[in-house]
Amino acid sequence: MPSNKSVSDAPITQFTNCRILRDHCLQREDLWVRDGKILDPEKLFFDEHGYADKCVDCEGSIIAPGFIDVQINGGYGIDFSQACDDAGSGVSLVAKKILEHGVTSFCPTLVTSPPHVYHKVLPQVKVHDGGAHGAGVLGFHLEGPFISLEKKGAHPEQFLRTFSSGGFRDLIETYGSLDSVAMVTLAPELDGSQSVIRDLCQKGITVSLGHSVANMSQAEEAVQHGASFITHLFNAMLPFHHRDPGIVGLLTSDQVPAGRKVYYGMIADGIHTNPAALRIAHRAHPSGLVLVTDAITAMGLPPGRHTLGQQVIEIQGLHAYVAGTKTLSGSIATMDMCVRHFKHASGCSVEEALEAASLHPAQLLGLSHRKGNLDFGSDADLVLLDETLNVKATFISGEEVWRK
Ligand SMILES: [Zn+2]
Repeated sequence: MPSNKSVSDAPITQFTNCRILRDHCLQREDLWVRDGKILDPEKLFFDEHGYADKCVDCEGSIIAPGFIDVQINGGYGIDFSQACDDAGSGVSLVAKKILEHGVTSFCPTLVTSPPHVYHKVLPQVKVHDGGAHGAGVLGFHLEGPFISLEKKGAHPEQFLRTFSSGGFRDLIETYGSLDSVAMVTLAPELDGSQSVIRDLCQKGITVSLGHSVANMSQAEEAVQHGASFITHLFNAMLPFHHRDPGIVGLLTSDQVPAGRKVYYGMIADGIHTNPAALRIAHRAHPSGLVLVTDAITAMGLPPGRHTLGQQVIEIQGLHAYVAGTKTLSGSIATMDMCVRHFKHASGCSVEEALEAASLHPAQLLGLSHRKGNLDFGSDADLVLLDETLNVKATFISGEEVWRK
C-alpha cells in the first residue's frame, strides 16, 4: 500500500480536467495541493509514493492564481475611510464579498482623511490570511494625504498635508502607526518626500507615486529612492508631454536602477482610461501593468448617492462622480470585470490579462515567493474561470471559498 505519510499527514487534493497558468502559459496539467500549498507531483509520486485523497473535476476550467487588488476603497455599502468602531467588520464584509470576483487577497485603501480617521481605523485591521471568512488582508494602502492640491481628484482639499514637520514625523502624526500599512501613495514633488520614500521603503512599505504634478526627473529621483508603483496611471497626474513626459515617462525611463522595475496601476473599467491609452501603456511596459479596481462604497450597490471618505458621490451607470460634478471618484468595477475589459481593450493574451491581476501585484508587494503564481510551494489561492474569464469558483489555501 503506498503511503502519503512520509512527509505530511495532510490530505492531498488533485485538480483535474483543467488548464493551469504556470510560467506565463496556460498548460494542460493537473494541480496538486497539500497543506494549503501547491505540491510537486513528481516528488509526491517518486519520493513519497503518495496519491490524492480528493479529486476536483474542474470541467475544463482555467486555473489562475487568485487575484490581488492593491487599491480598493470599499464596496457593498462599506467605505473603509469612515472612522467607525467596527471598521474591522466592514473590511471583513468586503473581504467575503470579493471572493466571488476571484480576489483572494487585497489592500484596503484609505483616501485622504483627517488624522483621527487613520488613528481610529488602522489599529482595527491587522494583516491576516484569507479563508472561508474572506480574502486575505495584505495591509492598508494609504492614498494621501501627502498629495498635490492641483491633482487632488476626489480627495478633500481641507485634509491634504505637506511634510512640514520634516517628513517622517508628519507621516506618524497623520497615520499614527504604520504597523498594518503595505503601501503609501504620495506626490514626490512635495518638499521632503524623497527622504520619506527612503524611510518607508526601509520599513518594507511600497511607495507609489500619484495625485501629483511631478515632472519626469522628480519621478525618476523618487524611483531611485525606492518608489516602485504608479497609482492609477494617467489619472490625477500631468498628461503625457513629449518634452517632459512626467510620471508617465517612468514606463520607458532609462533611469530605473538595474534589477528594479516600476509597476503601474490601471483601472481597466472602460471609463477611467481610453482603450487606446490602455494599449499604449501595455505595449510600452507589459510586465509592469497591475490591474486595480479602485472600487468604492457603491461597488455592488444600485445607482444613487453614497459616501466616500468625507465626500458624497453619485453613481450614474458605470460612472461614480463627486456629487454635483463630473469629477470621477473611483470605480464601481469588480476585478473580474477589469480582467475581461483589459483583455478585450488591449488585445492581450489570456495569460497576460490574468497575470496583471495576480503575478504583477504579488511582485509589486514582494510576495511572489508565495502568491501570484502556481509554482510548487506557493499558496494554493486559486480562481477557476471559464473561457471568457467569468469566475466559476475561488479557493484559498486549497479550500473552496466560493462557487457559482
Ligand atoms: Zn486616486
